[in-house]
Amino acid sequence: MIAAMGIKVQKAGRSKLQDISLENLPFGKYFTDHMLEADFENGEWKNAEIKPYQPMLLNPSVAAIHYGQAIFEGIKAYKNKEGDAFIFRPLDNFKRFNISAERMQMPGVPEEIFMDGMKQLIQLDKNWIPFKEDHSLYIRPFMFASDEVIGVRPSDNYKFMIILSPTGPYYSAPMRIYVEEKYVRAVPGGVGYAKAAGNYGAALYATAQAKKKGYDQVLWMDAFEHKYVQECGTMNVFFVIGNTAITPDLEQGTILDGVTRQSSITLLKEMGFAVEERPLSMDDIIDAYKAGLLYEVFGTGTAATISMIKELRYKDFVMQFDVEKWKTAPLLKKWLTDIREGRREDKYGWMYPV
Ligand SMILES: *Cc1c(COP(=O)(O)O)cnc(C)c1O
Repeated sequence: MIAAMGIKVQKAGRSKLQDISLENLPFGKYFTDHMLEADFENGEWKNAEIKPYQPMLLNPSVAAIHYGQAIFEGIKAYKNKEGDAFIFRPLDNFKRFNISAERMQMPGVPEEIFMDGMKQLIQLDKNWIPFKEDHSLYIRPFMFASDEVIGVRPSDNYKFMIILSPTGPYYSAPMRIYVEEKYVRAVPGGVGYAKAAGNYGAALYATAQAKKKGYDQVLWMDAFEHKYVQECGTMNVFFVIGNTAITPDLEQGTILDGVTRQSSITLLKEMGFAVEERPLSMDDIIDAYKAGLLYEVFGTGTAATISMIKELRYKDFVMQFDVEKWKTAPLLKKWLTDIREGRREDKYGWMYPV
């Protein structure tokens, strides 16, 4: 199949790596020498090609811009101390990408293009994987509708691409979170479980309002009762109550099935926590806080790994935490980072060699 698909490679003449330093990198600003591109036309994937990173020429009528058939993924690649490159759980992202595609009435991308293309692309740009602790190469696969027709209907043509961006430590200071009661991110029956571009555009307004009030992010609540917690910004969220770690369940399709979430569940169990995936109400959280049993609250996601929450504001009630004393979130972050950078045994087979 790989040979049949045949990914054409056109190499960049000169590496841009000579012009930038892989120290102090801002997130998502610099891109490597190459990118992958493939087209879906007449019902099949073709023209899979790795070529120099470059601008695209688009017709102004291109469908994705008008009606939002666009999805993406976020994955990271690392180097261990021997200099070998690994990608963290990319098959999970591959599967999730095609789940998002189905929900957005887009074609699935074959494994030979997504996985083998990603591997080949990273091999070619391997020198761009930063070597330092907490540094990685962020991988951004995405797909968009490319019909040049203004009409509301599923596009016949699509473009799949992968671009790569070296990133430094995504230091996330402990966050102050505003529990959002007016605006919602996802509804049952909606697209909350898909990494669809529109979800992120739709979230910006509420986030900006919370920032104006002095908060870093919002905690999204369920759309009907504004009672149950969903996610924190673009991260899944965990509450450590007593000896139990609780995270909202995925039943209603309102929550993104995070790879960091799944990995955190596994590692929290290994640490001896009971882990529950279930609806969790703000009332229960406040009760636990008042009883002195709400020990830690944190978000999980590929970009920042684990982000501690030092303050949660719900209506006029403010919950504050002394994150300096926390044990679980920092240990979870350490275990995850150590596995990814080859300092801790990869018991679960999460590291995919490039
Ligand atoms: C990407 C994303 C996450 C985190 O998923 P990971 O696979 O852990 O990176 C959580 N919530 C939302 C809304 C996301 O888009």
